[in-house]
Amino acid sequence: MARHAVTLVPGDGVGPEICEASVRVLEATGVQFDWDVHQAGEAAIKEFGTPLPEPLLASIRKNKVALKGPITTPIGSGFRSVNVALRQELDLYALVRPVKAYKGARNLRDDLDFVIVRENTEDIYAGIEFEQGSADANHLIEEISRLAKKKIRPDSGLSIKPVSISGSERIVEFAFDYARKNKRRKVTAVHKANIMKHTDGLFLAVARKVAARHPDIEFEDRIVDNMCMQLVLRPSEYDILCCLNLYGDIISDLGAGMIGGLGLAPGANIGTNGAVFEATHGSAPKYAGLNKVNPMAVMLSGVLMLRHLGEIAAADALEGAIASVIEVGKSVTYDLKEKRDDPTSVGTSQVADAVVYNLKAGA
Ligand code: NAD
Repeated sequence: MARHAVTLVPGDGVGPEICEASVRVLEATGVQFDWDVHQAGEAAIKEFGTPLPEPLLASIRKNKVALKGPITTPIGSGFRSVNVALRQELDLYALVRPVKAYKGARNLRDDLDFVIVRENTEDIYAGIEFEQGSADANHLIEEISRLAKKKIRPDSGLSIKPVSISGSERIVEFAFDYARKNKRRKVTAVHKANIMKHTDGLFLAVARKVAARHPDIEFEDRIVDNMCMQLVLRPSEYDILCCLNLYGDIISDLGAGMIGGLGLAPGANIGTNGAVFEATHGSAPKYAGLNKVNPMAVMLSGVLMLRHLGEIAAADALEGAIASVIEVGKSVTYDLKEKRDDPTSVGTSQVADAVVYNLKAGA
């Protein structure tokens, strides 16, 4: 059986415990891994003086696949988000976030099964910002006010929203490719082109052109605010949502809420230089080391990783084993219980025990 070299980034806060639990269930599928463990975030700052050390990036470039725990972005420390930086360094341009209602979870409704494909490198998240009051901000305010013939208030800060033809084309192509590979029927482009004609409008025009190259898959578009309402009222009409960065971020949390919270929301960052699999949630620092939080979002990210590696039977087995733990509802963490203080909730590692048990029993 082939072995897979995978970079493992335990991360900050609850990261090490949920990654440890996920490694355990991944190995219990019988698939063989060579884990190349690298620190990032707070642990890496202590050792390397940077939250994103070069050996970590080199490892992902070499292995092309990583499983990652969440990383804390220290507020006001001057470090920009490590997660945004990692995505940009490796050009992980597509963020895939499935929203699937597992039986027994605290789902808003039980017919949820759609996938968010979020553009990950551009838009207002590009990190191009000018601080209010700085010489550059003042200069830009004057220049833009002159060019646009509209007054920007002089006490403004500025964040720039670049959206390119090439960036839009590759994310929409990715969405169609993902739809085909995963037997999905429709791609919906999500935008606000009625207001932002030269960014969202450009994205929509490119999406329409790309869609014409894929007549076997249905295409439509939705304005983002309407999209949110539609998802709550008629989610089964949607399949793959191809979103600009900011909208994808917000809709991902909406999706996570619809399936009972962040504890069950997996994700994959995919690009030309590799793929990084991680939960949607953050490092939940207040729960660090308490064996408390739900490891299933990372485990389900591991399911996506197995599919990416071509280990389809193992992916199906692991997803089934997790789904069965959720459905039985016994060995689950507090967030999956009706009441958060339910004394029958189990800890992170006991969830892993239950999933491993199901895998061994062939559940
Ligand atoms: P968070 O997702 O870490 O936690 C918010 C709350 O959600 C927690 O207090 C907890 O109640 C709940 N929660 C989160 N994960 C859970 C789980 N697995 N099981 C049960 N409950 C869970 O969000 P935050 O507090 O806004 O962010 C904390 C840090 O994480 C910040 O520094 C942020 O920048 C970072 N972050 C990192 C990533 C990433 O690495 N991809 C993503 C988001 C946030």
